[in-house]
Amino acid sequence: MEQKIDFRSDTVTKPTAGMLDAMMNAKVGDDVYGEDETVSTLETKLATMFHMEAGLFCPSGTMTNQIAIKCFTQPLDEVICDQTAHVYRYEGGGIAYNSMASVRLLHGERGILTPELIEPEINEDNIHYPKTSLVVLENTVNKGGGKCYTLEQIEAVHNLCAIKDLKLHLDGARLFNALVATGDKAASYGHFFDGISICLSKGLGAPVGSVLLGSSATITQARRIRKVLGGGMRQAGFLAAAGIYALDHQVDRLAEDHQHAKALAHVLAKANYVEKVMPVETNIVLFDVASRYKAEEVVRALGKKGILCNTTSIKTIRLVTHLDISSAMIDQTIEAIEKLEV
Ligand SMILES: *Cc1c(COP(=O)(O)O)cnc(C)c1O
Repeated sequence: MEQKIDFRSDTVTKPTAGMLDAMMNAKVGDDVYGEDETVSTLETKLATMFHMEAGLFCPSGTMTNQIAIKCFTQPLDEVICDQTAHVYRYEGGGIAYNSMASVRLLHGERGILTPELIEPEINEDNIHYPKTSLVVLENTVNKGGGKCYTLEQIEAVHNLCAIKDLKLHLDGARLFNALVATGDKAASYGHFFDGISICLSKGLGAPVGSVLLGSSATITQARRIRKVLGGGMRQAGFLAAAGIYALDHQVDRLAEDHQHAKALAHVLAKANYVEKVMPVETNIVLFDVASRYKAEEVVRALGKKGILCNTTSIKTIRLVTHLDISSAMIDQTIEAIEKLEV
């Protein structure tokens, strides 16, 4: 059987030899006692990089986001985010469950929120209304086809939140993809956000883990919430070592994933079964199938060629490039896309 080429997500990567070596050699201790030096190194490394005070290593991006929302809201508050946001759509309804907060959904262009969209949705102080207390941005925007915010857009939202006394959290599951694509500096981010969540297990290629960044006070509270959610981990340094290795060795190469995604988009745009391809900025390709097809039919046809991908709606298909997709696999996929009969 031929080798599968797996574009379902950038979460499917396996640790590289260098990463496994770093994991095996990690110095570990009991992190619930604060004694795992590798976990502490990872947390400090990312906090320093983003000009934030402190970090907290967690098992997943869902947990870092949910902890941040819990830290930045009280029950009966309201969170503002885009209607496509991961925190709303793909975290199991956790905002209601964990934080007892309601959600106001906005319709940003490809998921990008602006002060013009946010300001009219901030509730005035009135007992009829939930109290708006938090805005969540996502960068890159997953359902926006990996779209990036500019720093100017982020600054504008930050300024509004500062005036309105709202907290601002960033779901930066793919923030390093955005940094590599835009050339913006990680250090510019800390000033704008109260919390930043970064996934190590997406494009960066670590097997497990996300880090929440924030002020020392926020991270002290976040550590408490992580414990009650069952996310306090003991010799987690073996996992943190994978994150440190990824940050040292697997960031710059994200540019290659972005090139691969653009090459796929280019051939897809010419295929007769494709209606339109969303412009590619990072490692996600979203395209709509032509009106006579269903997305699942095209996914099945690609699957028969050993190419795995997912639908995101009845008309839309998503391909995600990553560390385990080589240039040779891209060439093979391009050929299959060109020859595909649905
Ligand atoms: C993957 C992802 C997360 C976190 O997901 P986990 O699987 O819980 O790590 C959060 N936000 C976005 C936009 C994501 O794509």
